[in-house]
Amino acid sequence: MELSAQILDNLQAVHHRIALACKRSGRHPSDVQLIAVTKYVSLDVMRVAVQLGLTHIGENRWQDAKPKWEALQPQGTWHFIGHLQTNKVKDIVGKFSYIHALDRLSLAQAIDKVAQQLGIQVHVFIQVNVSGESTKFGLHPQELFSFAADLRSFEHLHIAGLMTMAPHESDAESTRPIFRQLRLLRDQLNQQAILPYDVQHLSMGMSNDFEIAIEEGATWIRLGSVILSNQLA
Ligand SMILES: *Cc1c(COP(=O)(O)O)cnc(C)c1O
Repeated sequence: MELSAQILDNLQAVHHRIALACKRSGRHPSDVQLIAVTKYVSLDVMRVAVQLGLTHIGENRWQDAKPKWEALQPQGTWHFIGHLQTNKVKDIVGKFSYIHALDRLSLAQAIDKVAQQLGIQVHVFIQVNVSGESTKFGLHPQELFSFAADLRSFEHLHIAGLMTMAPHESDAESTRPIFRQLRLLRDQLNQQAILPYDVQHLSMGMSNDFEIAIEEGATWIRLGSVILSNQLA
């Protein structure tokens, strides 16, 4: 099959699964936005994906993303989904509209500073390590509220929401409590009015577990292999 027909096939299957998960949970598919995670694929594959309408693009390393960003930049909205080193902030801010893994104040400060210089606002997600796995980045849930309160002083950050990664489970259903807890944390953050505006979004759900994440309230899902896996070189 031709490359674009393959990706289109995958995409249609994914949209069907998104629609079913929304139906099961009484949600509307337009409330769930899809980020195509392109970290594994070449620029040629990405061109096809973008042409098929996959314009929200997720990358997790600047070194790998750079040639892709330079080639496709105006056609996409770029999401930095990986752990971000402070010395890479100057490369990312101004190019990536969304940063999904804010996990420390020094990083918030660095992003805010570059955003201020550029006169822009950056949308950030606070990464929470709900599962508590030592291999994962992110704040402990108990640290979240004081961390969010400290973010109020950064005028060039807009806190779009919370982000988490669930452990990879052979039975996706067992990820549900992780996603549910992230939603509850968001709701508590808003009930306690820790920030001057409501935090809306939940960035959660990957190829293995996105339906469960949607059922628990995901507004941004980050999908790589389920859309692009037969393109992996
Ligand atoms: C790679 C990656 C994804 C996508 O993973 P798939 O399992 O291929 O869908 C999503 N989120 C983050 C943070 C990633 O690093």
